[in-house]
Amino acid sequence: MHEFSTMQSIIEVALKAAKENGAERILSLELEVGEMTLLNPEQLSFAFSILSKDTIAEGASLKIEIIPCIIKCKECGYSGERGPPMGEDHFIPIIPRCPKCGGSELSIESGRECSIKRIRVRVPKDLGAAEGIPSGDQNR
Ligand SMILES: [Zn+2]
Repeated sequence: MHEFSTMQSIIEVALKAAKENGAERILSLELEVGEMTLLNPEQLSFAFSILSKDTIAEGASLKIEIIPCIIKCKECGYSGERGPPMGEDHFIPIIPRCPKCGGSELSIESGRECSIKRIRVRVPKDLGAAEGIPSGDQNR
C-alpha cells in the first residue's frame, strides 16, 4: 500500500531526527499531507501504529494536516484553491478545474507534498519535552 511505504520513510526521518536530538521517545508527530497525494489519513494512522511498533515512536500521537491543492490556471491566470472536485470525497482521484473559468489547463502549485511539520520528543536528561523541527516551515 502507498500509505505504508510513505509512512515507512516518514518514520525513518522521524527516528533519525529524534536520535540526532538525543531523544529517548517520540511523543507526537505532525504531518502535512497534500490532498493531491491521495494519501488516506486513516490508512496513514494505521500504518503508523503498525510500523512504529518496537521503535521509540511507538504510542506517539499522530496529527495529520491536509494541505489543500493550490492551482494556477493557464487560461485565465487564476491562482488559488482548486474548484470543487468531481465528487465530494476528497480521496477519490481529483480532476481539478479552475473555479473561475472552468478550464483544466492548470499547474499544481501545492498539494502534492507530504512532509513532517513537527516532532515532539522527550529527552532523557531533564525529562522535559523538546521540540525538533527536522524540515519545513515552522510558522504555518
Ligand atoms: Zn481559469
